[in-house]
Amino acid sequence: MKQFVDKLFNNQEFNKKELLEFINKIDEETKDYLFEQACKKRDEVYGRVVFFRGLIEFTNYCKSNCYYCGIRRSNNNADRYRLSLNELLKCCDYGYKAGFRTFVLQGGEDAYFTDNKIKEIVSVIKDKYPECAITLSIGEKSYESYKMFFDAGADRFLLRHETAQAAHYKKLHPSEQTLENRKKCLYNLKEIGYQVGAGFMVGSPYQKLENMVEDLMFLKELSPHMVGLGPFIPHVDTPFKDMKAGSVDMTLIMLALVRLILPEVLLPATTALNSIHEKGRELGLKAGANVIMPNLSPKEVREKYTLYNNKNISGLEAAEYKEAITKEIAKIGLKLVVDRGDHVSMK
Ligand code: SAH
Repeated sequence: MKQFVDKLFNNQEFNKKELLEFINKIDEETKDYLFEQACKKRDEVYGRVVFFRGLIEFTNYCKSNCYYCGIRRSNNNADRYRLSLNELLKCCDYGYKAGFRTFVLQGGEDAYFTDNKIKEIVSVIKDKYPECAITLSIGEKSYESYKMFFDAGADRFLLRHETAQAAHYKKLHPSEQTLENRKKCLYNLKEIGYQVGAGFMVGSPYQKLENMVEDLMFLKELSPHMVGLGPFIPHVDTPFKDMKAGSVDMTLIMLALVRLILPEVLLPATTALNSIHEKGRELGLKAGANVIMPNLSPKEVREKYTLYNNKNISGLEAAEYKEAITKEIAKIGLKLVVDRGDHVSMK
């Protein structure tokens, strides 16, 4: 078992069958070794540092209807909101002063925010904070729209592929959404020059281990700059309300495997992981993650941006939260750095 970890560590070729067998049979001892080697790899590439990004959840209106997501358009119980440009700028201003050098604008697919509005938001933020990176996470758009946002100053884009197998994708989304288009968007984003983030949920309904093996193979092929990966957590107002949440253990195994398969990847210990385990963030960082994304959204809206239930919402302001995290991760020998935290290939 350890040999397979070494193989990944040494960047040797592997196939699906070996990977599946490894995940199937992994025992406690191998798991510890896997996490250890994943951290070693991260430290080799980026050092013992953690990058932090300010997450601004600027709208929870959504025209999509993903079966797992709490802000899907058919959820009439969602309390919808949008932030104005002014409110957005306040978040950035606060974040900048607290040391944030990346702003992640995430939202539902909200038609109110036309391409021109997004373009304006991006250029205003870029103009005010030229040394900061802007990340968008606003779903599927045309090549032209992505290009327009990029030209306006957006640096990165997060668009999880969700699952790399078409039949499984269909079980998680209505037929108007296709894996084919999702993948096309990801390749378009790469071509335009964004630092791109893909990723998937661990333990999503109907997921088999084989699906996650496909996910890892797809990530290897796409070779994104970032990978977002967290456990699925049910939301009461979705068709998946009675489904089981993904496990902490499997999420950590996936994080470590992604680190070894894509050594240079920027890999967050996600809010979802921290929501199903009180030490989720620390465990994620001990499995090879190197990014955290504290919430910069105004406190009043944090609860409304509910993709899943039991979201770990910090009552703290981002700066206080950052201080708390600094102390927490110092205990495991890691340090938060004030930096855009670009992918190594960009330097
Ligand atoms: N609308 C944008 C971004 C918002 S959703 C987009 O489509 O990309 C951000 C991510 O949250 C999704 O990609 C999904 O993987 C995750 N997510 C949504 N619902 C979830 C749930 N119930 N449990 C865990 N993660 C969820």
